[in-house]
Amino acid sequence: MDTQRTLIFVGAHPDDESFSVGATLAQYTAAGVKVYYVCATRGEAGQANPEKMRGYSTLSELRCAELQCAAQVLGLTDVIHLGYRDSGMSGWEDNKHPLALASAPLEQVTGRIVAIFRKLKPDVVITFDPIGGYRHPDHITTHNATVKAFYAAGDAKQYPESGPSFQPQKLYFRVTPLRILRITVKVLSFLGRDMHRVGPNKNIDLAGRLAVKFPVHAVIRPTKKGVKPRDKENLCHASMLEGGSPRRSIFSLANRLFGHRDYYMRAYPPVNSRLRERDLFKNIK
Ligand SMILES: [Zn+2]
Repeated sequence: MDTQRTLIFVGAHPDDESFSVGATLAQYTAAGVKVYYVCATRGEAGQANPEKMRGYSTLSELRCAELQCAAQVLGLTDVIHLGYRDSGMSGWEDNKHPLALASAPLEQVTGRIVAIFRKLKPDVVITFDPIGGYRHPDHITTHNATVKAFYAAGDAKQYPESGPSFQPQKLYFRVTPLRILRITVKVLSFLGRDMHRVGPNKNIDLAGRLAVKFPVHAVIRPTKKGVKPRDKENLCHASMLEGGSPRRSIFSLANRLFGHRDYYMRAYPPVNSRLRERDLFKNIK
C-alpha cells in the first residue's frame, strides 16, 4: 500500500479510537497508512476507580495518558486534541460547562476540523454515525461538525483563514448493523437486563436504538495485525473498562457473538445501490 496515504478518525473522547474503530486503525497503520486521531475532548466527565486515579490529579490527565498508551500500541502518527470539554451524557451537569463540546458553536468546531483536514490532507475520514452510536451528545456534535468540515475543506470560500482548500476523497460513518443490535438486545434481555436503561449510568436506551437503521457499505474484517493491537490498546483504557464503558459491555458481547468486524456506512462518495467494500481506500486516486 502507498505509504503516503492518510486516514483521519474524528472522535470525541480518549477511548473512542479503541472501542469504536481500533481494529480498523491498527489494520491501516500496519499497512503503512498515516493514521491520525482527532479527539474533540479530554474525557473530563464520568468517573474512574479511585485506585486507577493514583498518580493523576484529574480524570482527563489519566484518560489522556491512557490515550497515549493506546496511540502507541496502534502506531498512530499523532493524536490531535480539539480542546473542548467532555459533555457527559444528556442531562448531566457537565453539559452546562462553558467549554462543553455539545454546547460549542458548530461553526467553531467545524472550523477547527477544516484546518486539520487542510493541513494533514487525509484521503479517508471516519467519524460516528448521525446519532453518535448510542446518542452521546459529544458523538453527535462530532459527527455534525466532521460532516460539515468534510465538504467545507474543499471549498476555498469557506473558512479561508484555515489554509488552502483540500478535499478528502471518502467519508465513512462507523455503524452497528441492526441485526447485531437485535440479537445483542435479545441476549441481554434474556440475561435480565433492562434494555431501555443500559450502561453504568443506566441512561442508554438500547432497545430504542433498534428504531434507527444505517446501511452497511464497507466491512473491515481485521486480521491478526488489526485485532492484536486492538485488544492491547483496549487494555490501555483500563479506567474505562472498570468504570463500565457502555460500549465496552455491549459491543464486546457483539464481538463474541459475531466475531470481530468493523462496519461502515459510506457517506461520500454517495452510494446509490448495494455496495460492500472490504477496503476503505478502494478507488482512492
Ligand atoms: Zn466517546
